[in-house]
Amino acid sequence: MRVAVIGAGIGGMAAAYDLSRQGHEVTVFESSDHVGGLASGFKDEGWDWSVEKFYHHWFTSDEHMMGLINELGLSDQVVIPKPVTVMYYKGKFYPFDSIPAAAMYPGLGWGINKIRFGLVALFLRVTKNWQALEKYTIDEWMRKWAGNKVYEEMWEPMVIGKFGETYARQVTMAWLWARLHARTTRLATFRGGFQAFCDLFTARLRALGVEIALSTPVNRISSRENGLLEISTGGENREYDQVLVTTSPALLSKLAPQLPEDYLKGLLSLKSLGAVVMTVALKHRLSEKGYYWFNLPKNAGFPFLALVEHTNYLKPEYFGGDHIIYMGDYLPADHEYFQMDKEELLDKFLPALQRINPDVTRDWVRKSWLFKANYAQPVPLINHSRNIPAIQTPVKGLYFASMSQVYPWDRGTNFAVEIARRAVRLMLQNRPG
Ligand SMILES: Cc1cc2nc3c(=O)[nH]c(=O)nc-3n(C[C@H](O)[C@H](O)[C@H](O)COP(=O)(O)OP(=O)(O)OC[C@H]3O[C@@H](n4cnc5c(N)ncnc54)[C@H](O)[C@@H]3O)c2cc1C
Repeated sequence: MRVAVIGAGIGGMAAAYDLSRQGHEVTVFESSDHVGGLASGFKDEGWDWSVEKFYHHWFTSDEHMMGLINELGLSDQVVIPKPVTVMYYKGKFYPFDSIPAAAMYPGLGWGINKIRFGLVALFLRVTKNWQALEKYTIDEWMRKWAGNKVYEEMWEPMVIGKFGETYARQVTMAWLWARLHARTTRLATFRGGFQAFCDLFTARLRALGVEIALSTPVNRISSRENGLLEISTGGENREYDQVLVTTSPALLSKLAPQLPEDYLKGLLSLKSLGAVVMTVALKHRLSEKGYYWFNLPKNAGFPFLALVEHTNYLKPEYFGGDHIIYMGDYLPADHEYFQMDKEELLDKFLPALQRINPDVTRDWVRKSWLFKANYAQPVPLINHSRNIPAIQTPVKGLYFASMSQVYPWDRGTNFAVEIARRAVRLMLQNRPG
């Protein structure tokens, strides 16, 4: 078959890998000038390693991602340093990277709440029955089983942080289950950064004969009378037996408006948030205590959700001695941060760093970068399993594998690989002739 894959993120690349190894002729169309999508990275002069545009790591439990890396013979490039994750409480930070550590968090007080927290966390870690949980919102379920105090101290700030006031009370409990069930506290990355992995993967794909067309946005997928699908890229039109789209649901609806109304409606009803992430290279270390990941509740007044000192996880020497800090948030597309430029956001964000280290001044900043993505975090509402668009769309030969369909799992490169490989299996089962 001749197959087109739209998007050279980790999902699109994993699909191209499986298809080409089965002997199919694959073209990957990618709108940007590099591969890796949301997991891509960049390198400043003097850096040996790249930095992800949007902070990334793997969990050692990411079996699909680790499996793929293993198949590529690159497992020896995976490194697993042990970072410290902390949670803010009344001006201080407390370790928060295991159930026992979290149970010591002072926000819970002593006594019954710690026990309730421990039991609920343990139950969610052990149960496999997410279907029973998906009909409740996190808010309903947690208030009932963990109690108001535990919920309001531990989970609610995290859920509001992640989904904002608009969605925090609507997100399904299955989402929180998946986070607690699937994630380990050991975090992994690739020697040289995620971009180094993506580049090695690209080289492998090219060696297999996959054509990767960078800077080539697809703007239409049309069904032809000869049963093939035509891809239009502004420049030329090409025909394929099958097409796999790995972009957002909204974009698929624009690329293939011939999809039946029901399917289009389903795509457009899916909710998601964007992400704004600023990276700064500081001349000095921010957290002398060596904290890597700071959980910041929205009500503590920080202008962002996530604060990550990457170089408390990986050595500053990999980055020419720079201390790399990420400041990021998940936000609706109409949020003011999407209109603000780098300098405006830096003015807003920098004072917050002084809450971690009062010595921080503008002089500390050697360089900064700003990345924005409109489609960064799907928002699964209750009973989301009923609303997931089918991978095999009703248009003959057209397949769809996106972050919105990996539910009950939260989006991540691991699940991008899983769904891409699942999509390829379906494509091969249903191949023409
Ligand atoms: C802030 C943030 C933090 C994250 N942290 C982690 C983490 O720690 N660990 C983890 O595993 N995952 C993390 N993720 C999620 C992870 O990045 C994604 O789940 C994964 O990269 C999705 O891969 P994908 O291939 O499905 O999609 P994408 O990476 O979105 O790839 C889609 C590709 O399609 C391209 N494209 C778009 N339109 C067109 C068009 N018209 N024509 C051609 N190409 C087009 C895009 O440029 C892009 O390259 C994070 C995401 C964000 C935003």
